[in-house]
Amino acid sequence: MRILSLKKENSFLPFSIPSVSEKDIDEVVDTLRSNWITVGPKTKIFENNFKEYIGCKHAIAVNSCTAGLHLALVVTGVGYGDDVITTPYTFCATAEVIEHLGAKPIFVDIRRDTFNIDCNKIANAISDKTKAIIPVHIAGHPCEMEKLIHVAQENKIPIIEDAAHALGAEINNLKIGNIGDITSFSFYATKNLTTGEGGMVTTNNDEFAEKIRLLCLHGMSRDAWKRYSSEGSWYYEILYPGYKYNMSDIQAALGLNQLKNFDHYQRIREEYVQLYNNSFKDIAEIEIPLTKLNIKHAWHLYIIKLNLDLLTINRNEFIQKLFDHNIGTSVHFIPLHYQPYYQKKYGYKNNDFPNAEYVYERVISLPLYPKMTKDDVFRVIDTVISIIKKHRI
Ligand SMILES: *Cc1c(COP(=O)(O)O)cnc(C)c1O
Repeated sequence: MRILSLKKENSFLPFSIPSVSEKDIDEVVDTLRSNWITVGPKTKIFENNFKEYIGCKHAIAVNSCTAGLHLALVVTGVGYGDDVITTPYTFCATAEVIEHLGAKPIFVDIRRDTFNIDCNKIANAISDKTKAIIPVHIAGHPCEMEKLIHVAQENKIPIIEDAAHALGAEINNLKIGNIGDITSFSFYATKNLTTGEGGMVTTNNDEFAEKIRLLCLHGMSRDAWKRYSSEGSWYYEILYPGYKYNMSDIQAALGLNQLKNFDHYQRIREEYVQLYNNSFKDIAEIEIPLTKLNIKHAWHLYIIKLNLDLLTINRNEFIQKLFDHNIGTSVHFIPLHYQPYYQKKYGYKNNDFPNAEYVYERVISLPLYPKMTKDDVFRVIDTVISIIKKHRI
């Protein structure tokens, strides 16, 4: 193994490569040849299979997780002047959809162990203006949904989950997507299941489902795509000024086949996580990701946290050293209250969200994807350990 990993030392190991198989490609080509390339039969099948996989009542395919979050806020009635509680430790998409509606994101600090929103701090952030809560299951580790549901129900506030990282994650054997009021998944190129660009909204609420279905294709009367098929007609009705957020059959063809292989890919991620964990667990300079007992982790990301007190280099220097050894990494996430737009608009200062800041200074996301080989994983492990050995205090 060592010999192999040395041989590969010269090639760059990207942070992420999508798991696109030859069969995936065949399915897409098949759709391209079918004369039906936009939303249609494959999207319907993908929605049905996805719904079955999650075990929920409704699944609506959209063209991104961002679009799904936006629609979720619209159908739960969030509008101008409202507050929406979320985390500063997320991708910009989570908060920008709140801004789009003229509402205000109310950031609640995170836990230092899972990097998820601290559900014990949510009650304090709720006011008369609070109209929704958007938790984010960072890296694929579920938030404490029991606590969250308790505080949300007490205040009659809907929970909209940003599950961009959390396809396959579970709490007490219940899949994410079957817990909160509305959940939005991402099929962006780097995510555990990809359609290039795409997303899926799930809910057990009939009314939300029907509205989201309408709004994601211009607010056009139901199953308007049928109007071009033998069973349809040219007639349609616009019930709302909707959005152009539908998924195409080209994307759905890819998604369908990806879903077939999803559990297999997840097992590879789990196996690589075990290799990482076993190699790093006794190294004081690194903290490995926490996995609580009652949950299943989706392992979208493998995030290590550096113990900076024991190192002579900081996180950025650590990343540069990994890059010098041809290993791509990333940082999830730059807290949103550090971003110029949010700083200017809301006047955030350093230390407003101390845990998000503490974690941000210390984390590195290591490569984790099924197209890596075991030797790639060992190469990352060896390189991380060699950097630590050279830069111990
Ligand atoms: C990727 C991501 C999104 C956005 O997903 P899209 O499908 O690209 O819209 C939203 N939230 C988080 C936490 C993400 O990582």
